[in-house]
Amino acid sequence: MASPLAFPALHASHAGMWIASPDGETRRIGKAEAVAKAAETPMILLNAPLVAQRLGYAELSGLDLLELFAFVHPARFAVPTAKGLASVLGLETAGHDEAIPRFLQAAAAKLIATLTDPSWLEREGAWDAAQALTRLRWPWARVVADQLPKPQVKERWLFSKLPEWEEAPPRTPPRSVQLDRAAVDAQLARLTGSEAEVREGQRAFAETAAHIFDPRRRKGEPNMLLAEAGTGIGKTLGYLAPASLWAQEADGAVWISTYTKALQRQLVGEARRVFPDDAAFRQKVVVRKGRENYLCLLNLEDALQGGFAGRAAILAHLVARWAAFTADGDMIGGDLPGWLTTLFRRNGTTALTDRRGECIYAGCPHYRKCFIERASRSSAQADIVIANHALMMVNAARGREEASRPTRIIFDEGHHLFDAADSTFAAALTGAEMIEIRRWVIGPEGKARGRRRGLSARLADVASYDEEGGLAIDAAREAAEALPGDGWLGRVNEGVPSGPAERMLAAVRATVYARDEGQAESGYGLETEYANLDAPLIEAIADLMKALEALVKPLMVLGQRLEALVEEAPDWLDSAARARIEGAMASLSWRVDTLRGWIALLGRGGGPADPDFVDWLAVDRGEGREYDMGIHRHWLDPTRPVSSVVLKPAHGILTTSATLRSGGDWDTAAARTGAAHLDHEVEHFSAPSPFDYARQAEVLIVTDIQRGDLPALAGAYAALIGASQGGALGLFTAIRRLRSVHARIADRLARDGLPLYAQHVDPMDTGTLVDIFRDDPHASLLGTDALRDGVDVPGHSLRLVIMEQVPWPRPDILHKARRLAGGGMDYDDRIIRSRLAQAFGRLIRKADDHGHFVLLSSATPSRLLTAFPPGTPIHRVTLDEAVRRIKSGLSPATNFGQGSALEIEDEDIPF
Ligand code: SF4
Repeated sequence: MASPLAFPALHASHAGMWIASPDGETRRIGKAEAVAKAAETPMILLNAPLVAQRLGYAELSGLDLLELFAFVHPARFAVPTAKGLASVLGLETAGHDEAIPRFLQAAAAKLIATLTDPSWLEREGAWDAAQALTRLRWPWARVVADQLPKPQVKERWLFSKLPEWEEAPPRTPPRSVQLDRAAVDAQLARLTGSEAEVREGQRAFAETAAHIFDPRRRKGEPNMLLAEAGTGIGKTLGYLAPASLWAQEADGAVWISTYTKALQRQLVGEARRVFPDDAAFRQKVVVRKGRENYLCLLNLEDALQGGFAGRAAILAHLVARWAAFTADGDMIGGDLPGWLTTLFRRNGTTALTDRRGECIYAGCPHYRKCFIERASRSSAQADIVIANHALMMVNAARGREEASRPTRIIFDEGHHLFDAADSTFAAALTGAEMIEIRRWVIGPEGKARGRRRGLSARLADVASYDEEGGLAIDAAREAAEALPGDGWLGRVNEGVPSGPAERMLAAVRATVYARDEGQAESGYGLETEYANLDAPLIEAIADLMKALEALVKPLMVLGQRLEALVEEAPDWLDSAARARIEGAMASLSWRVDTLRGWIALLGRGGGPADPDFVDWLAVDRGEGREYDMGIHRHWLDPTRPVSSVVLKPAHGILTTSATLRSGGDWDTAAARTGAAHLDHEVEHFSAPSPFDYARQAEVLIVTDIQRGDLPALAGAYAALIGASQGGALGLFTAIRRLRSVHARIADRLARDGLPLYAQHVDPMDTGTLVDIFRDDPHASLLGTDALRDGVDVPGHSLRLVIMEQVPWPRPDILHKARRLAGGGMDYDDRIIRSRLAQAFGRLIRKADDHGHFVLLSSATPSRLLTAFPPGTPIHRVTLDEAVRRIKSGLSPATNFGQGSALEIEDEDIPF
């Protein structure tokens, strides 16, 4: 092991604080001393924001081991804990809190020693990066720069080093083929491996899934299959078998869309079985995400050249190190560690991606190396494109890539299509959305640095060549002044709005607060119906409508001029300029659509409601602080647009999930997926889970915790987690209760060696929290919705799921409207069953998983219990009994079985 560095190291957990002196002597210290030491001398820490939180000292800075790791091993996965780093660095794990400071010193020494190791794989570019980081006073810079020898030959810098993508001719349309059943079986056998026992459910699923690839009979009528495949069927390989076969025989692409990153990652792993050869895999399987996920090289260059300052600039250099080694440039969920940006409190991350649609396409010097362009080109040639529901919807709605539009689509986690569509096809006429359009037209205001520019700067060549186009740009620029500018939130709150948009926002805010029925105290969002508006709001709406019409007109003229320009093709319009103008046309048409949607929404202000939509006014708040406000519009049934822009144009669609029917029937599945809006019959398939739930799981409904009794709720969590010795996933429906429970029990559990992590408490992204949870069988994790079905932790690490109460839908305006249209209580029951089923689904992922599912709610009606797989034992018990059962574990000997289940009576639940 390398010798420790001459720095002290500090470790803080919920169980206490420990410090190791430079010579390795470790002792326990109090908070005040830890804070004082951290302020006076640089210390090695692991995850400074987390240590700062444990110390209650926000300003903490130091030698963060994770930053050093990101420098030495960019694009390498590591769980950001002592155990995680020990495993990736090949060091011995520090078994207990007290040993961790010493471990931190050893890990730092090992990383520093790597810098002089001739076999270090990530050396290229390190010397230059270290010089830049020294100028930025990165705490590790001096130690790192001292060890790094200057390269003999000047190294290529990132932007010249990255490979260029190849332009390929457009792909010919897929051949019309009919898959042979025996060939599908054989492909499935190949993918599952010869030793794997044949699973009948999986084979039936694969054969039925093959039907979606049959030649389509009529335009507008895709071959559509709704398939409910219970957990453990092996549905991923079940659909990959016919999909890969069709892609090969027809020379076409199959798009597979997921809702969660966990499944997307898993799919990438499974797709490797189709193409075991690495080069073939990279060519044939492509992961696509929304462009806001990828690093924009132009933004990075800007950040490296002075656009960022302070900590954000340090992050930019660490991201640049990563960019040289990344597989695909995906900053969110790709190979950039999720924890890296949270170390910098997300400072600057957004500005490194292309969130605001400011891409200048071929006008960009890095266009031929751009990660986004590369991903989009590769998907045009791929066999399997792995995407997500949101991207599928956005692409279909905005359709920039018409030629490579997906025609064969598999929606896995199909029960989430409704939610994905709901957010994609919604309109939000709010301050935050309007200021984005203003900046896109005018450019940033005041002293904002960077390359972000308005329309006139981006299309200067058009303006000088085409007078009408130039006048349209000027008119748009002037009209955009009506939209909210920097500082709008403050002006609106202080009652001094500027311009028609801010005046409308102020009137919305006044209306929302005037109609408040006592919710304002909660500190969370407020809303009210977009109906019975008073005169000041109606007036403000009319003024803003005029202002938006004045903006949309010149933008439409500009769009026509750009189209004409591309057709005329003047001499100066080389292929680069053409691509840039086509890019501008696409983002222009998206803005025009948004503005038109807003105008329609304003237009209905004083009049009757449109039955297809639910509209409301809202002030968005978090912990009492307002951050946005405006008018919202959602489709009453968002699967309507899904059916017209995604389903009908396709040839074949499989929508599958373990809980597609949400404990209901096929009509429910059709209604939640858009199939109900097709004019022809769709095929159904279902296969139950092969797991032995009667033996593997037990549902315990705890009857003696009163709703609203927080100390009792926290006590129950502590007792249950203690009984299972960690390995618990705690699910909450309210962040406030989650925080309160965590605050009451985290220290107590930590002292027993049971770390408790929590979303909305620990300063880490959800993916990282799940990685930590998965890696430590004694850890437990508390969270909200995202954890209910985004967690895939097979095995012993997850052996207990605790839900604080029945997951009732939030009775907001949108929900009330859908409930009314969807059958009242039945509608709610379907949602709750689906949520319970998803949460239960976290528990048993493999045939040898065991675990308990605890619902801390005596008021659980029996009619909801069909959410759990048939055969699962369900007991209503006291907390003590639940603790006893969990301690006893689940095995054939201790399982009480269905026979001992208590009689379950229906109870009415107040809504
Ligand atoms: S082409 Fe667009 S997204 Fe890509 S690097 Fe350039 S500006 Fe960024």
